[in-house]
Amino acid sequence: MTAPAPAQAGLPPAFARHVIQWQARHGRHGLPWQGTRDPYRVWLSEVMLQQTQVTTVLGLYSRFLARFPDVRALAAAPLDDVLALWSGLGYYSRARNLHRCAQAVAQRPGAAFPATASELEALPGIGPSTAAAIAAFCFGERVAIFDGNVQRVLARLLAFEQDLAQAPARRALHEQAQRLLPTRDLTTAMPAYTQGLMDLGATVCLPRKPLCGQCPVQRDCEAARRGEPEAFPRRTRKLKRSAESMWLLVARRADGAVWLQRRPARGVWASLHALPAFADRAALVAALPVRLSGDVREGQVFVHVLTHKDLHLHPVYADLPPRWRGPGADDPDCPGAWQTPLAWPALGLPTPVRRLLEVLA
Ligand code: SF4
Repeated sequence: MTAPAPAQAGLPPAFARHVIQWQARHGRHGLPWQGTRDPYRVWLSEVMLQQTQVTTVLGLYSRFLARFPDVRALAAAPLDDVLALWSGLGYYSRARNLHRCAQAVAQRPGAAFPATASELEALPGIGPSTAAAIAAFCFGERVAIFDGNVQRVLARLLAFEQDLAQAPARRALHEQAQRLLPTRDLTTAMPAYTQGLMDLGATVCLPRKPLCGQCPVQRDCEAARRGEPEAFPRRTRKLKRSAESMWLLVARRADGAVWLQRRPARGVWASLHALPAFADRAALVAALPVRLSGDVREGQVFVHVLTHKDLHLHPVYADLPPRWRGPGADDPDCPGAWQTPLAWPALGLPTPVRRLLEVLA
């Protein structure tokens, strides 16, 4: 089937060509996940780069690949090992989904990823944009990536008036994104174009103060022509934030071990190892031996910011005898145990818990 040419659709003509030519000269080159058509490596980089800066991902990507060189190795690893290696990237649900997805791919013939975006999207944890990136980079499929950066570039290019928080608006812009794709030499054009669009969003069409003077599509950009690039994408709704207080028990043994408990599979810090958490101070104290309940020390309260929620964390310190068994001692779903400082680096720990432990070590 022949795709409609952008000019016929009333979109900027030669948009894809300008992006590809710009990428060759001014785009990012030499990143470790570029120049490969291995779906495992592309998938891994795409997942790591969601919500995490390139500079942070660089070191962790190589470390992860050294430990899990292919999808079979990742599928066979215990989840705890994957979560531990994910430390530093945050948003641990990505690591859990990565592991589940690797197990699904490992079940397929030859442990091969599917070659189309629609099949990739059917795998656990692979969203439309990641599926499109893998299909475009590895298999040259004519399918548009549509992450936040790309939405911003296209919303500005077209001065798209609708609020992208609404699903129909996203669908409408996505249709335009499909029309703007290259129409020939897809095996080489699709990877180059996809990378170009990503680079444009990450390095030129920045959320604030976009560098329109360096942009290869400035002449076609409606938002730039109007002199108001930052007015797009339009936003009519604000993200609702909530707050939650957690009282964290830092139970210490004389040898430096700390009692840690695995979190439930859903909710804040799902499946990670963390300090036992309580809704208030009274509940925390009630979990301690009676003779110790008055002998606790409260640390500095601090706020940890999650995407939709502010966590107000209240660390409470107590020295416990070696025989003490804390929350989760008999809970197979959320098991608790003493963990010595030597064991901490191998555990998947939420960032604020890791910081509290680092002070103790
Ligand atoms: Fe973004 Fe400016 Fe380029 Fe338009 S001209 S796409 S606003 S960088």
